[in-house]
Amino acid sequence: MKNVAAGFSPSLMLVLTNESQPEPNPTDIAALPSQYMRKVIRNIDRIRPLTAENFKMLRCNHCGRKGKYDIGMIAFDIDRYYKDVKRKQKSGVSIDEYIQTTGYFRCRHCHSAGNWEFPTDFMFVMTTMLLMRTVKMENQGFHFGPLSLFDGSRHRFATDAEEYLLKKIQTQEDSLHWNKLGNLYNKGGRPELATVAFEQSVRLDPTQAESHFSLGQILDQMGEFEMAAAREGEVPVNIQEEEARVELDMIPDKVESFFPVAEMYMGERRKEMPRGIRTLDKYFKPELSYPTPMNKKKKKRK
Ligand SMILES: [Zn+2]
Repeated sequence: MKNVAAGFSPSLMLVLTNESQPEPNPTDIAALPSQYMRKVIRNIDRIRPLTAENFKMLRCNHCGRKGKYDIGMIAFDIDRYYKDVKRKQKSGVSIDEYIQTTGYFRCRHCHSAGNWEFPTDFMFVMTTMLLMRTVKMENQGFHFGPLSLFDGSRHRFATDAEEYLLKKIQTQEDSLHWNKLGNLYNKGGRPELATVAFEQSVRLDPTQAESHFSLGQILDQMGEFEMAAAREGEVPVNIQEEEARVELDMIPDKVESFFPVAEMYMGERRKEMPRGIRTLDKYFKPELSYPTPMNKKKKKRK
């Protein structure tokens, strides 16, 4: 959670305030328009991180200074790596180009983002893993396969994906994009920024159930049960139950793994999805849990 000190993207402030300030102060987080953010920052230690902490010493190539940052989960695009190695005959393929991380962090010294040098020991571990082709690291903050955003785009650092989404928002402001940005911050270990994004998402579309729910989950952990209940009350109860069951079964490079979550949030409209890709039918069929009059009759006869 120490990344709070590392600030935020000036683009976020510009998009939210619509002010043509040439350079917003990236450390003045309190200047971001938000109802709950300050409360979240005060209670930040009570909020359970969605991704295990993974502090690594990185060197900022922009200012040359080193710092320890929570880089979150590390993904390695192993298929693309081997493909390129084959194609380029093992020369000119640099491992770090295939590494992606989920943690949201910016340089504490110059506030720039996305221009990092990984430490030698870290690169050594990555190389060893590749040589052994081991998947034992899966549970230790490593993921084999690429990370993609909802639209299939891939970005090396969370801050790269953030800039991409903010550009999309600048062209066409949309509650879904703010929701995706909120998820990015949330998974990146920045619930206070996630709060800002989720709030903006529901400001634009008060029926944005995913944002209400995620905001509610953050508030809930701070002991703000009433505020949380009001948020979560915007989401049908059966969806909340399913969320608990399927939580974090989403595999970043497997689009199909996101379908159950999409179904949950779509409610009745999930029937618009082809039957073949629906996975929650068994949970949504009320006739399975409530006997029809015909069934009752049969039972009586016995
Ligand atoms: Zn720097």
